[in-house]
Amino acid sequence: MTWSPDRMPIFVPPIPGEALDSWIEAYAFRLRINASGLLSFLNLNRSQTRRMVVALTEHELGALSRATGVAPADLTRMTLSPQDGISIAIRPQTRGLARSPTWRGTSGSRYCPSCLHETGDRWQLRWRLPWSFACRQHSLLLLDTCPACEARPLPASRHGHAPSLGRIQCTHPLGDSPAVSVPGGGAVIAAQARIDEILDAGDPESARGTLHDLYTLAWKALAVLHSNRMELPDLLGDALRELDRAPILLLHGLGSEDAATAATGTVIALAAYDDQTPGSSVVLNWITQGDRQRFVTATPSNVLRTYRRLSPPLMSRVLASLDPGLQPHHRLRYGTATSNPAIPKASRADLRRRATMIPKLMWPSWTIRLADSTAPNYQPYPQRWTLSSLLLVARAPVSFAHPHACAMLGIPTSKRAVQMLLGPQDEGHNAVVSAVAQLAAGLDSEGSPINYERRRALFGGPDAAVRLDSELHRDLCKRQGWRPPGARHLRLLDLYLRSLLTGSDLTSLAGRRMDSPTVCTGWNVLRFRMDPAIRQLIVRQAQAALDDQGITNEPIFWEPPVEWVTGVTSWPGQDSDGLDEVLRRIEGADASLAEVAAATGLSFENVRLYCDATGTTFPELPRQDRRPNDPTPRVGDLGADRLRELYVEQQLSIAKIAKLIGTSTSVVRGELTRTGVTLHQQGRRREHFIDRKWFEHEYLGRRRTLVELAAECGASHSTLARAAAGWGIPLRPRGAQPRLKVQNQPEP
Ligand SMILES: [Zn+2]
Ligand SMILES: [Zn+2]
Repeated sequence: MTWSPDRMPIFVPPIPGEALDSWIEAYAFRLRINASGLLSFLNLNRSQTRRMVVALTEHELGALSRATGVAPADLTRMTLSPQDGISIAIRPQTRGLARSPTWRGTSGSRYCPSCLHETGDRWQLRWRLPWSFACRQHSLLLLDTCPACEARPLPASRHGHAPSLGRIQCTHPLGDSPAVSVPGGGAVIAAQARIDEILDAGDPESARGTLHDLYTLAWKALAVLHSNRMELPDLLGDALRELDRAPILLLHGLGSEDAATAATGTVIALAAYDDQTPGSSVVLNWITQGDRQRFVTATPSNVLRTYRRLSPPLMSRVLASLDPGLQPHHRLRYGTATSNPAIPKASRADLRRRATMIPKLMWPSWTIRLADSTAPNYQPYPQRWTLSSLLLVARAPVSFAHPHACAMLGIPTSKRAVQMLLGPQDEGHNAVVSAVAQLAAGLDSEGSPINYERRRALFGGPDAAVRLDSELHRDLCKRQGWRPPGARHLRLLDLYLRSLLTGSDLTSLAGRRMDSPTVCTGWNVLRFRMDPAIRQLIVRQAQAALDDQGITNEPIFWEPPVEWVTGVTSWPGQDSDGLDEVLRRIEGADASLAEVAAATGLSFENVRLYCDATGTTFPELPRQDRRPNDPTPRVGDLGADRLRELYVEQQLSIAKIAKLIGTSTSVVRGELTRTGVTLHQQGRRREHFIDRKWFEHEYLGRRRTLVELAAECGASHSTLARAAAGWGIPLRPRGAQPRLKVQNQPEP
């Protein structure tokens, strides 16, 4: 070390970690002057130590370094400027301290009395930081104020700390102040060590983020602690007992926190923060659930706004912990039932892109898994439309409502189907919410090989140019020796071709309502019974249609693989995976729909969906090949399956079926009984298909009219009325004003 002419003859080295103002005071004391005397000696007449400890100007830095021989970098390390934007914030013009990014901070300095005592009043820079609350060397909580005058002290003026306005200078020796001791190996000291590690890691960006996360948790933890100390998780009990002798402040308004409060908040925040720490989720839940109770309306956006900019991993954990209290559509939007919940960030453009990857009808395999086809009033189309629309709602912001999703896909909205899929929370609904959110995320990240939107435009409309080539079909019939098909059958085959390409429903393909019993029956039988030769023809034509449009890189049909969804243990619907073996055995055995359903455990509609998904069909064998002793039913063109279909699924009466196929009611009844269908009691036939809870809720609770409800569930007005009478629910008179009882009024 060379002694330049500018150097002062006496050198007072700073102690490790010392604050610049403390060192200047000590230096001046050694020279038997005061700090301002020393500064004017260095030609720094206008400088003040309380500004210099925040940041040094170039001029100050040069003068100090020249006079003392301490390197400029070391001098800068004795100021708060390296912490600017991390744990404190500096106003550059005035070199004053602004509101710190975390905690409220104070203008004074905390202190450890033992440290002051041992060093002869040398102050650590770190005590200025709002994140310093304990002395790790002496296992003491830092003090915020002088116990004698309650001022927040500063190292300025070695002979007693700085006086407050209008008060005489206090002469209490701060080194003698009593402080709260904490266990050396305890939670408070460990928390301070962890914080110091974060501050010293030399990565400002990451430190800033971590401290922000910890502060948010700490602040909420303190608020919860004040309102609900009772249900404190056990593992926090010991930690907080360390601070029993230090009362914890309620954070509010403009007052700043003291060391004990910062220590308490930090200890709890750290216990919740690291998901590798045992019990961290318990602590996090305690914070988030307690915090949520402070809200009058606890919508996720209200609650989450107060968590501000949490890092994505912590936000994800906070969302997961909020999951049990969220409404289903929020669970879908935030993905809280999945392993990576997140604030929805999908823009309209993202959602429009996702919509191109979604068919109007949920993919058949996913429908089998997600829709409970045994539920009362199960209707495949509304359920499948709704599942598809929920794929768009998932991970979408709240501003993108369910009707927007339906409009984007061009499908009807069905409140009833939403209610069935996402009603009260249970295992099944959890699975829907989880699976749909994961599928949506899968589409966003993996994409779909099929652009359904383009296909809907090309093949989906009633005036689409693609039609089944009837010439080729006629040739095929000739070769196979089949009767030439009727116009109705050909129309169904054409719809089959276009539904295979687009994943759309019959009504939108045909441009008019296609839900009459005859159409539905014909369609359903076709899906189950289609001859493989005809299906091959249709698949070839589908490929040709794609080729004609220059679409060469898309498969004809695709579904998201089951691996896209994890963590769902039981499906609300059924599981068709692993049934291939069973089904191969039945294939070609002339099995009826009922037999296939019985062998697989699948419902009728799920068998057909399985056929849609896999291309497997179960064609009827020609008569001469039928099994011996199989009585030929006298039911006209309609085989046992179709009969059952009409009766069980379309819910037609026996009389109607008999009329439809031109036979007598006794033949129909006999045939149904023969195939094992339980006949309904006459007169009370349809009650089973109306969900009583739903009816009570809508009719009694929401006071909707029978006519509306009949339209919604697809039953007739009189069927509903009969069902209500059966349950003993009194009906309101027709045309009665809601909530007004009209008595003794003769019907007009
Ligand atoms: Zn100490
Ligand atoms: Zn004092």
